[in-house]
Amino acid sequence: MILNEKITGQEIEGAIQNMQLGKSPGPDGLTARYYKALKEWIIQPLKEVCNEILEGKKAPESWKEAFISLIPKTETEKNQVKNYRPISLLNVDYKIFADILAKRLKRVLIGEIHKDQTGFLPGRHMSDNVRNIIDILELLEVNINRKAVLIFVDAEKAFDNICWTFMKKNLQGMGVGQGFENGIGAIYSKQKAKLIVNNVVTEEIPIEKGTRQGCPISPLLFITVLEVLLNMIRGDQLVKGVQVGARNYKLRAFADDLVLTLQQPDTSTKRVLELIEIFGQVAGFKLNKQKTKVLEKNLTMAEKEKFQSETGLVITKKVKYLGVNLTSKNVNLFKDNYDKCWTEVKKDLETWSRLKFSLLGRIAVIKMNVLPRMLFLFQTLQILDKMDCFKRWQKDISKFVWQGKKPRINFKILTDAKDRGGFALPDLRLYYESAAFCWLKQWLLLENTDILDLEGYDNRFGWHAYIWYDKVKIHKGFKNHIVRKALYNVWIRYKDLLEGKTPRWLSPMEAKETKKLNMESKWPKYCEILEQDGERVKLQSYDKLKSKVRDWLHYLQINEVFKQDRKIGFQMKRSKLETELLEPNTKNLSRMYNLLLKWNTQDETVKSAMIKWAQDIGHDIMFDDWERLWNTGVKFTACNALRENIMKMIYRWYMTPVKLAKIYHLPNNKCWKCNETEGTFYHLWWTCPKIKAYWEMIYNEIKKVLKWTFSKKPEAFLLGMVGQLVPRKDRVFFMYATTAARILLAKYWKTQQLPTLEEWQAKVIDYMGMAEMTGRIRDQGSETVEEDWKKFKIYLKNCCNIEEC
Ligand SMILES: [Zn+2]
Repeated sequence: MILNEKITGQEIEGAIQNMQLGKSPGPDGLTARYYKALKEWIIQPLKEVCNEILEGKKAPESWKEAFISLIPKTETEKNQVKNYRPISLLNVDYKIFADILAKRLKRVLIGEIHKDQTGFLPGRHMSDNVRNIIDILELLEVNINRKAVLIFVDAEKAFDNICWTFMKKNLQGMGVGQGFENGIGAIYSKQKAKLIVNNVVTEEIPIEKGTRQGCPISPLLFITVLEVLLNMIRGDQLVKGVQVGARNYKLRAFADDLVLTLQQPDTSTKRVLELIEIFGQVAGFKLNKQKTKVLEKNLTMAEKEKFQSETGLVITKKVKYLGVNLTSKNVNLFKDNYDKCWTEVKKDLETWSRLKFSLLGRIAVIKMNVLPRMLFLFQTLQILDKMDCFKRWQKDISKFVWQGKKPRINFKILTDAKDRGGFALPDLRLYYESAAFCWLKQWLLLENTDILDLEGYDNRFGWHAYIWYDKVKIHKGFKNHIVRKALYNVWIRYKDLLEGKTPRWLSPMEAKETKKLNMESKWPKYCEILEQDGERVKLQSYDKLKSKVRDWLHYLQINEVFKQDRKIGFQMKRSKLETELLEPNTKNLSRMYNLLLKWNTQDETVKSAMIKWAQDIGHDIMFDDWERLWNTGVKFTACNALRENIMKMIYRWYMTPVKLAKIYHLPNNKCWKCNETEGTFYHLWWTCPKIKAYWEMIYNEIKKVLKWTFSKKPEAFLLGMVGQLVPRKDRVFFMYATTAARILLAKYWKTQQLPTLEEWQAKVIDYMGMAEMTGRIRDQGSETVEEDWKKFKIYLKNCCNIEEC
């Protein structure tokens, strides 16, 4: 078994690689950075120590030590221990060892821990727990004869009270093997901790229970212990879960958040409490009756009273579970969660409005502050019926981004990806829809059948019949379900875009099968039962499909469906939906977002601004050049004001006399500088004789700095598209120098005045300081920044007699 194999150098290296930098060191004072730097010398001795422990030797004394520092929780009274959050600091070598064991244990637990525990294991999502609860509430809403309670268990400091002896016995019972037992035994014996209080380290305090905070194995040990209790509950005949066919939905757990969904409330609950009591005594787990909350469904007044007096638990109207506000009716979900969250967001936006952020700064606020909060809801609550809330939210966002003024850039461009020239302002609606696809994935793949059975408890057809063969028209009740309706609506909006032909993932067998209460898993998909014969696509022969069909008749039925589907043709290559959603197991949300975003901004690919620039400059700008500008060009600085200038240039943001004359019906539309020619955008930035002279001056100065000559191209000076014009080593300076020149022009935008040489020099000197900041922010060596500005410093000294400041 993998748990007991010798620890290899690669594992140690991997663990060191994984260490986060910048964290406080443990009691030995050695930081992760130290381990990374000395990796080569450390791996071998560390490997020996680790393997000796697996063989039964004691762990180094220092591994049992931790510093615990107490961080006060938000503004509460500071004289009570419970108002502090302990943060423990462990030694890095210990963490490396624990990390390796944790990785190994995870691989084993994925097969051992029941799917209804979703914490700490890869591929399991907290959102499934909420989805499960909502689905159960939907089912109980319709089946009014089913009396049920949902118990949201609060365990008293569950992590801290776990009994070590029990935990070790349990591992032994699981058959983890001697080596692994040794490993765990070595660290979970006589731990010591010292408190850091007011920067003073206290005497040692021995620790004899609880899982270790900050240690990567501790959550895994916790869920293995909890699994013992959950198995007792799952297997107990007296505890009745919510029944759908042969399936019984009794519980869901995420870390120490345990929820029980029970029918026959009185007997089931009493039995569960007994089991928890029995388990608690040996394992160190205690239910807190005051904090444990109960929602009921379909109970009469008398039944509620009886339940409360017999179990000692209190039935409430509202419960907060995994960050979601729940009641016994799902119709409240929108108001209690989305509305509530947005009210807070709006309040925050008003506060931030008073701070003077730049446009990009405000977009960053939306991205870093508003999006995560909404995204949490999108991922846990797929319940939106109408989409008009997005219009309202978008309006509030727009008001904030444009500071109450009229938007200058259209919403599509604002939300488009940066590498396509947008500003990457999050489009909340697309994020919601992307999250919907992450849920829809299960309908399409027909996986996670426990969710599917519950969600489709009253389905009359297979899932694929609803999503591909339009059976919603026949069984309208399909949409009488808060989750099904929400997901179906998103699906229908994108269906034709995503799959133009009969998709490869479609299972004609599942679609045409008479619906049973519980799903059969492993339905063959079209991509598994079709074959290509030259140009022709055909169904594989009966002989080949024998194992997948019931009998000859079944085969004929499928063949009929196949003939129908052939009319619109078959998708033979993998579609985007497959490559972005169905196949990958990670980053589905962001992949889908990018996909939907591309579609939603598709007609903007040839952006009007790009066309206008090409017309002005008189030759085409290659799309690649634009892309390069968006991808790398604007990144020369970390300063938003400078980047913003380039973006404003690209989108031709500045108002011109011509535009103003049009809007306000002014008689004069002449250039502010020369007052002779029509003041178009390009005239004011490039062709006006006065502006031309200004650029000539800047051009000459830059040549003086760089000490070589090059042609004066408008795209380089106005957009920072330097291409091969400026060699790499001079590019950073060139970008700053030209940006300075433009920002000065913008400063005197509506005046006759032009910036002077001195002003330009001063500005560039300013930027030199900023570049050093950029260097520091990006952790570049000071040499790089020095190199970028060397020529400019010489220029200042020689041409202007300015010593660097
Ligand atoms: Zn002019």
